[in-house]
Amino acid sequence: MPAAKINIGNVEITSLSDGILEFDLCNFFPEIPAESWDGYRQHLTEEQHVRFNLACFLIRSDGHTIIVDTGLGPKPADAPETPWGELLNDLTAQGLRPDDIDMVVLTHLHRDHVGWNLQFQNGKYVPTFPNARYYMSGIDWEACHDPELIESRFPNAPECVWPLEELGLTVLMDGEFSITSELTTLPTPGHTPGHMSIMISSQGQRGLVLGDVLHNVVQAHETDWVSRADIDPEQTRITRRSLMEQLERDGTTVAAVHLPAPGFGKILRAEGRRYWQALEL
Ligand SMILES: [Zn+2]
Repeated sequence: MPAAKINIGNVEITSLSDGILEFDLCNFFPEIPAESWDGYRQHLTEEQHVRFNLACFLIRSDGHTIIVDTGLGPKPADAPETPWGELLNDLTAQGLRPDDIDMVVLTHLHRDHVGWNLQFQNGKYVPTFPNARYYMSGIDWEACHDPELIESRFPNAPECVWPLEELGLTVLMDGEFSITSELTTLPTPGHTPGHMSIMISSQGQRGLVLGDVLHNVVQAHETDWVSRADIDPEQTRITRRSLMEQLERDGTTVAAVHLPAPGFGKILRAEGRRYWQALEL
């Protein structure tokens, strides 16, 4: 199946994927009683699991070829059946090579967003995308070095994020940072302290790469449902509430990392309930 692609003005976004990740409901949403999912079961797998796509959005803007987020990374050598590790195959299917990418932008530094940043070859770290600089939040950069957070929140940062600095490849972003003339970061903290969504504005059209503001479509309406992955639950709720209101009001096209592939949709409302409407492509 060809990869799904949309345009926001002159910006082209292609949805690539590193694969999928699945969790037991009570594991991922430990504070949400099981019966609260009644009425939402269609958004779970048959086994009542939450399933995440691991979208990595390929964006062309201003002559740049950009990857937003890099998935979970290579399949573990001892587990060749893992359902992820597909990003480079998806890139090849687009007729692209890793050295065609000149910017890697990370919405945040959790392990399922940084996996393909680097590879360990002949005793040293080398960038998977050798012609790219790696853009990330300065706040998350600090957080992923916090001894209290590394093991529980940023377990692969020592291999997948930290070495970028020594290689001279990091660009730290704060606030509303211009990535290109059409792409600007929008701080959306809570899930991680420096979490960033990416606003796209071109030819009078607007889009937003959401990052992890939503993990399941249910949260478009149930904005208070936080998961164990949300580092600051209260800030996550505040950010999600205001962003969902804004996206509903503005009718912005959204590219969502973990919602069902390809992850393009809008936030709409019917009968008093907000919901996710996937784009028909
Ligand atoms: Zn994630």
